[in-house]
Amino acid sequence: MSAIELSQLRKTFPGCTGPAVYDLDLSIRDGEIITLLGPSGCGKTTTLRMIAGFEKADRGRIAIGGQPVSDGGIWIPPEKRDVGMVFQDYALFPHLTVEENVGFGYREQDRTVRIDDVLRLVNMADLKKRYPHELSGGQQQRVALARALARRPAVVLLDEPFSNLDADLREQMRVEVKRILKEAHTTAILVSHDQKDALSISDRIVVMEAGTVVQVGTPREIYQYPENRFVATFVGRTNLLQGVIGRDGFSVETMLGTIPCRHTHNKSPGEAVEISVRPDSLELDPEGEIEGVVRRATYVGDAIDGVVQVSCGEDCIRDILVHIHPEEDVQEGQRIRFRVLSDFIAVLQSDAEKPDA
Ligand code: ADP
Ligand code: MG
Repeated sequence: MSAIELSQLRKTFPGCTGPAVYDLDLSIRDGEIITLLGPSGCGKTTTLRMIAGFEKADRGRIAIGGQPVSDGGIWIPPEKRDVGMVFQDYALFPHLTVEENVGFGYREQDRTVRIDDVLRLVNMADLKKRYPHELSGGQQQRVALARALARRPAVVLLDEPFSNLDADLREQMRVEVKRILKEAHTTAILVSHDQKDALSISDRIVVMEAGTVVQVGTPREIYQYPENRFVATFVGRTNLLQGVIGRDGFSVETMLGTIPCRHTHNKSPGEAVEISVRPDSLELDPEGEIEGVVRRATYVGDAIDGVVQVSCGEDCIRDILVHIHPEEDVQEGQRIRFRVLSDFIAVLQSDAEKPDA
């Protein structure tokens, strides 16, 4: 049984030209961590708020743990839906201590034990007498998460959970939040516009564009095999190249030569396609078959982000993004050679073939 089932969910806000969420279908398994990933305004928060019951869908169906909570005449209010919510600003009660925040509204017999349990889970047991203003951003987030988990909800919803944290803490909390959600054996839906959040924390990522789902997959599937141009460019950097499927059906002839690729979406030999070649697929190699001139080389610590001008025929020059090992000594203006590795190459489906989301 799915933990959460969304079918044909639609929401249009009054005064808006298009729908915020359009006929969205999504099925989430028990214990899964899912991230709704997409640019600002694509309908992520609206989807989350409809699941929580803070927003009413115009049409469609929402089921939590097999029980419909929103479907035609059925409407279960937020407090009766088995969900825990972690708000973007954490929304802790400022006049309540950590333990009072976590226990707020929890009236079961095991209240004291349960509060201690979840505080231990989020590593906040020592600070339970503190008030929110005496906590760092990361600690406040732990408390908000503990409060959401206390009632053992069927699903925890987190809206942009890392957006208020600075870079170091953000990286640390991604790991921590994942650990906590997994140890709690809970199903979770996160919302983020940050690809690194999504790639590092999720079991599966749901990429959204303009109110619809454009691709669902594991972080690896989304990064290595984006299905279309939108996903390829939104999740990570890439080179989009025109090509023709090779005779064997598992390669593409492009300006960078014949590139082997595993996913060709059943395209036939000879068919024109667009492919995504991640900068990670290009490797500096003095014997490499591709030659170009370094136009820009930006050292970013764990790599050098190179932009290399490559000739693609008469009067045709293309900038190609190349991920260069940080130990390499490359200078702007230098002529280099590189080769294509078969990882991180994806044949894109043209928009016309995009399955209805
Ligand atoms: P995201 O979380 O992906 O940034 P939202 O779900 O917040 O996007 O918003 C999707 C669209 O719906 C946007 O165009 C936004 O302006 C609009 N929208 C969201 N909430 C409201 C609201 N309460 N009233 C009117 N329009 C809204
Ligand atoms: Mg949002």
